Amino acid sequence: MTAWGTETPIVIRRITNYYTVLWEGLELLCLPRARLKKEQVSIRVGDRVVLDEVDRVNRTAAIAQVLPRDNELTRPPIANVDQAVLVFAADRPAFDPMMVDRFLVLVAQSGISPVLAVNKADLVDPEGLAEQVGPYQAIGFPVVTTSARDGDVADLVGLLEQRVTVFAGPSGVGKSSLLNAVHPGLELKALDVSEKIQRGRHTTTFASLYPLELSSGLALVADTPGYSHLDFGPLAPDQLGWLFPEMAPHIPDCRFQDCLHRSEPGCAVKERAELSESRYASYLRFLDELEAKAARLSSTSLKDEGTVKSKAIAGGGETKLIKLGVAARSASRRLVRQQLATDLHEDEGEIEDDLDETEE
Ligand code: GDP
Ligand code: ZN
Repeated sequence: MTAWGTETPIVIRRITNYYTVLWEGLELLCLPRARLKKEQVSIRVGDRVVLDEVDRVNRTAAIAQVLPRDNELTRPPIANVDQAVLVFAADRPAFDPMMVDRFLVLVAQSGISPVLAVNKADLVDPEGLAEQVGPYQAIGFPVVTTSARDGDVADLVGLLEQRVTVFAGPSGVGKSSLLNAVHPGLELKALDVSEKIQRGRHTTTFASLYPLELSSGLALVADTPGYSHLDFGPLAPDQLGWLFPEMAPHIPDCRFQDCLHRSEPGCAVKERAELSESRYASYLRFLDELEAKAARLSSTSLKDEGTVKSKAIAGGGETKLIKLGVAARSASRRLVRQQLATDLHEDEGEIEDDLDETEE
């Protein structure tokens, strides 16, 4: 996990073509150098940048360069996210391990470190709570328990310092209450609703990072929850096991290279991994989903590629020709690409376009 330092300027907000960059405790209003625009360098919230023409009095500067990104999320569009705090409720709504596992896989896919926060700890007894979080602690996931209602958030706060954090989790678990308990006045935007409204109106607002002055230091928290779409992106079924940290170390020892760890002979994962029943049930369920998706994708391409034509041939017979026209092939490739794009939720281009439309 890479903690950022305030000595590196970091983009925390964007309004049309203006970027707010946080640098050494100052918020500077910045325009990108014309060269960046010409070279179509994209600048995202979370980007670490090199500044030019810093005017400390007027708090302005120019963005001269965008430093390479560690990672980038598409929803919300934020670069260099250090961690995703996955918030679940101990109760109301009931703790759902499969949903926890789903979020953990999604976070693993995007290469961001997860933290599991089990909120509403006040609603269950300590034994019940330990039962919920135990299996995740055993695998090595960082886990905190919180109660936003009782203001019991110290463990969570300790993890936010000096990091860029995105909160995620089902609705109703207490994400905005938690942020509010951490830092009164900061409420998470409800992503789904606002997104729909924005799309309807063809306007776009961008995710922002909020600097939280904690007693222990500065934290940057995204104001929009992450992972609002719970579909796995493109992922080959035989890659899923790598995203379960308790399975991964044993995968190279499976007899078959493409072992799915279901019922194959010589499966080291089934023989040796310390895999809880509930985690394995999640794995099997996700595997089914990925296989179904792969099957759907390949049947789509077959349908579009093969146009069966009967053609009379000399001598009265008939032969079936499967016509694989170039157009049909590229159409099916386009479909697959569209599906992949949907899976990836890559509508960043669209967001940029929307912005250009609404610029004054
Ligand atoms: P979000 O949808 O994840 O942002 O959840 P909210 O923050 O809106 O909280 C949903 C509901 O759970 C609200 O009625 C909160 O008052 C309640 N809530 C949030 N945190 C806690 C908690 O720690 N304990 C209890 N008992 N209720 C909580
Ligand atoms: Zn195996």
